Amino acid sequence: MEQNKEQRQIELLKILAKGCKKHPAYRAIRKATERCEECVFVWQARVELNKLEEI
Ligand SMILES: [Zn+2]
Repeated sequence: MEQNKEQRQIELLKILAKGCKKHPAYRAIRKATERCEECVFVWQARVELNKLEEI
């Protein structure tokens, strides 16, 4: 289980590092506007990563 968590964290970090192609300035510090699907995807990765780090 612990290894799965680490793998998921790496995956999420990659999503965050890549960011949104259309909005490279978006760094998922604040919630994304629902207008851009890719930004929302990056935001969700940030939220999930934060949750994983709490555990
Ligand atoms: Zn975007």
